[in-house]
Amino acid sequence: MKLHTLGTGGPRLDSERGSACHVLEAAGRYLMFDVGRGVISGVAAKGFPVAEIGPLFISHLHVDHIGELANYLITSHIEGRRQPLRIYGPPGTAGIVEALVGLVYDRDIAFRDDEAGYGRFVGAEITELRGGQVVEGDGWRARCEEVEHGHGLGFGPKLAGRWICFAWRVEAEGKVFSFSGDAVMCDGLLRAAERADLHLQCCYLPSSALATTQMRRLGDYTLACSDTAGKIAASAKTERLVLTHFRQTTPAALAEIESDVKRDYTGPVELSNDLDTFEF
Ligand SMILES: [Zn+2]
Repeated sequence: MKLHTLGTGGPRLDSERGSACHVLEAAGRYLMFDVGRGVISGVAAKGFPVAEIGPLFISHLHVDHIGELANYLITSHIEGRRQPLRIYGPPGTAGIVEALVGLVYDRDIAFRDDEAGYGRFVGAEITELRGGQVVEGDGWRARCEEVEHGHGLGFGPKLAGRWICFAWRVEAEGKVFSFSGDAVMCDGLLRAAERADLHLQCCYLPSSALATTQMRRLGDYTLACSDTAGKIAASAKTERLVLTHFRQTTPAALAEIESDVKRDYTGPVELSNDLDTFEF
C-alpha cells in the first residue's frame, strides 16, 4: 500500500501545508481520508486517476477536514467522474452534502448540466455510520471507531450528542493502515490503531507549547500533541508511526515534536509533509 499525505496542517493559515486530506493506494483503488484544503491541488500534483478515487472516508465535520468537499465533487465531475462518489462519515454528513449540492452550489451544478460535454452532474452516495461499523469493497475493509475530540471539554446543548468523530482502520493487501482523525488518547483510537503496519496520527504541537491552561486543555481533550502521540503508538503497538496535522510549524518545533515522540515510541517515526508518499 501507499499512503499519500496531501494536506498535513490544521485549520490555521499556513503557507506550507494544506489541512487534512490523505489518499491510501490499496487494492487498486485510491481511498481518500478527509477532504480539507489542498485536495484539489494535491490530486492534480499526484496525477491520480479521478475516476478511481473513492470512497471518501470522513473523520469528522470540522472545516479543515471537509472544507473542499463541494469543490472536489464538482471538479472531479468535470474531470470525468461518472459514478457517484461513495462517502462514509459520521451523522450529519448527508445533510452537509445535500446542502452543498442542493442549495449552496445548485446554480453552479445547473449551469454545468446545461453546458454541453459534461453530462448530468453525478454527486455522492452517503452512508452515515457509528463506531464499530465496517464497510467493505473489492479487496479492502474499513472500520470506524469513535474517538474523543473535544468531548472532555463538556459541550453545550447545541453540540452535545451530535459531535461524532472517527478514527479509521483499513485492512487491504494483508496490511493494516490506521488514521487517528483528530483525537486524543482514547479506547476507540487504540482499537483503530492496534498493531497497524502504519498509523497516521495527528500531532498538533510540541509539548513545550502546552504551557498555559488553555493549551493544556487542548492537548488533554482536543488534539494529541507530542506528549501523547508516541504513547498512543506504543500502547497500540503500531509498527510504524507517521505524524500529521501540525500547527504552523517551524523547523525547531518539528525537531522538538520528533524528539518528544521518540521518547515514548521506539518504532520508526516520520513527520509528514504535503505530497509525501509512504510505502508499506
Ligand atoms: Zn477537528
